Amino acid sequence: MPATKLDGKALAATMRAEIAAKVLARATAGKQAPGLAAVLVGDDPASQVYVRNKQKACEAAGFVSWVHTLPANTTQRTLLDHLAALNADPAVHGILVQLPLPKQIDEDAVIRAVLPAKDVDCFHPENVGLLATGHPRYYPCTPHGVIQLLHRNGITTAGKEVVVVGRSNIVGKPLAVMLMQKPTTANPAAGDATVTVAHTRTKNLAAVCRRAEILIAAVGVAGIITADMVSPGTAVIDVGMNSVNGRLVGDIHPGVWDVAGALSPVPGGVGPMTITMLLVNTLAAAEQIDGV
Ligand code: NAP
Repeated sequence: MPATKLDGKALAATMRAEIAAKVLARATAGKQAPGLAAVLVGDDPASQVYVRNKQKACEAAGFVSWVHTLPANTTQRTLLDHLAALNADPAVHGILVQLPLPKQIDEDAVIRAVLPAKDVDCFHPENVGLLATGHPRYYPCTPHGVIQLLHRNGITTAGKEVVVVGRSNIVGKPLAVMLMQKPTTANPAAGDATVTVAHTRTKNLAAVCRRAEILIAAVGVAGIITADMVSPGTAVIDVGMNSVNGRLVGDIHPGVWDVAGALSPVPGGVGPMTITMLLVNTLAAAEQIDGV
């Protein structure tokens, strides 16, 4: 029997409707709409699509959304000055700088220049540290999207063997942190799982993957996880977004549909959840400023 589809598109629509209702309630109470400023440097087509999708989602939920497009030859000083202005603007609750940045710009310096309270991507070292110590200000968007996709489909993580393939600062590493942590009232989106993180130096990736009751691929290699690497009944989350002959495909080979118990598709799985979690964080940023 083919795996159950973990439909991120449908779940994202439900969650975005919940967020829109909260934004409407804020407006009724005379409060400011949450405001998200996206900064795009250069003209990378994929980045333009991501930023446009984020802007559309913001506007549909009743947020105010700005896109600041800067030329590819922007200097680091200009970008930092731009961020300082957004940090100081009270209408801007969240700031996201679309990565990657052109090579003349130091990405770490830019991440550190965003005010931690407005860092709705949760990339600033202060927010990463708060997350790692179990006191999150925000959850990073893609890992949080994965956790919600599991939890809201009734897939529990407590006590489970979870294998995460990929250890990037954006996906694999924070996801592993969230999955292994003890949930508390202040940190409800945590997993109590037994987590293994695999990467390019992992020996016998297939055997490591077969240990998983929940398998998450955040690799960036089309179809790298094949059916023989997945134990029957495993819940599989595909974070990968790879372009193959102009088509968007994940890291999970299509043959896995016949083995897994549940599987998130690409497109329509983690992607829409990531954007939804950005809305969650931007709303939280507005509420923190209001003292809600
Ligand atoms: P990344 O920074 O390139 O990291 C990839 C990770 O995969 C690295 O840790 C790397 O190991 C590991 N890896 C690469 N090849 C491997 C192999 N053959 N065997 C085992 N491990 C391997 O990528 P990322 O930013 O985490 O993104 C991963 C994928 O998710 C990409 O396709 C990206 O487009 C997608 N993504 C999707 C969303 C979404 O919203 N759906 C959001 C973010 C990213 P090493 O550390 O040893 O190099």
